[in-house]
Amino acid sequence: MLYKEYGKTGKKISVIGFGGMRFVKSGDSYDFDQCAEVVRKANELGINYFDTAPYYCEDRSEDIMGLAFKKMPKEFYVSTKCSEKNGSKLRASLEKSLKRLGIPKINFFHIWCILTLDDYKSRMVKGGAYEAALKAKEEGLIEHIVFSTHCNGDEIETIVKDGCFEGVTLGYNILNFPFRQKGLEAAYKHGLGVATMNPLSGGLIPQKSEYFDFIRGKEDASVVNAALRFNGSQKEITTVLAGMGTLEEVLENVKVGERMQEFSETKIKEIESKLFSSMDKLCTGCRYCEHCPQELSVSKYMIAYNQQILGSSQEGSNWMKWHWGMPVEGVKNCIECGLCENKCTQHLPIMERLKEMSGWPAPV
Ligand code: SF4
Ligand code: SF4
Repeated sequence: MLYKEYGKTGKKISVIGFGGMRFVKSGDSYDFDQCAEVVRKANELGINYFDTAPYYCEDRSEDIMGLAFKKMPKEFYVSTKCSEKNGSKLRASLEKSLKRLGIPKINFFHIWCILTLDDYKSRMVKGGAYEAALKAKEEGLIEHIVFSTHCNGDEIETIVKDGCFEGVTLGYNILNFPFRQKGLEAAYKHGLGVATMNPLSGGLIPQKSEYFDFIRGKEDASVVNAALRFNGSQKEITTVLAGMGTLEEVLENVKVGERMQEFSETKIKEIESKLFSSMDKLCTGCRYCEHCPQELSVSKYMIAYNQQILGSSQEGSNWMKWHWGMPVEGVKNCIECGLCENKCTQHLPIMERLKEMSGWPAPV
């Protein structure tokens, strides 16, 4: 397993991190012992970053991790999260996480799921989430305060420049990388560790592997392998969080983490040009379409529409809810001025798509 320095924390983190959101149920419930065995196996094979959160796996993920942590074969670091804006609520959530995880401190505690700059500001107010996390850090309950976000690259850069965080977890993959590239580079430049989540675009990359076959190099056993390598081989990215539910997945991911040959510049150019040309129905996340007079974040809607092209409208509306925290009904505010379409680098029929999205099913 390859290891990288997580920002300036002095910690060496495995290039593949364990995502604790994909434990597999046995029948109607989770077999805690079986799931904990998957965690321990990953640790035995070199993974040392374990990412969990309240609510993952029907709120069982932290309990499963806690069981595994009682008898881990090697040294490990724990990441969990809290999305509360209020300081006392964050404190209560942190104490609950510590209890469930059975550990004295959280190594990487996330101010969770910052969606916009206004949202960021709301976590930083007096009596708010960040202040409470800082106090907990002084008390030794948190080692590093980090944040996770679905913001765009410019917004991430603004947050990073404020200098309050030691690391960031952001969604980044072969489908959306132009949307966050600037933020990724800013985080690296300012000495933050970077974990990337969602490297397989919510499972769409393996499900539609024929679409993405062009990302594979000679060394990649599969498209999944290539997608993980795309993230993990970049110097700006410390660790790639891969959701693991079975021992087979652990073995597969560990293998990828043993060798992370960088994508050549030629290969990245080829991928970009494929994204920008032959896959011309897809939004690339370039964000030239922003500044809508109705304040619609057009790129976010179009990235959600990608999920529909590659999956289904249900996946699109789920994406709106779980990734952007935005109701899809917002599309009804479009006044069809055409500004975004005129600027779209992919010449996407944005207005037509927004209309169609108004009829999407409710998220689940
Ligand atoms: S067409 Fe609709 S979404 Fe596009 S800029 Fe105009 S109002 Fe905004
Ligand atoms: S300009 Fe077009 S391709 Fe770029 S983010 Fe906007 S909708 Fe997507």
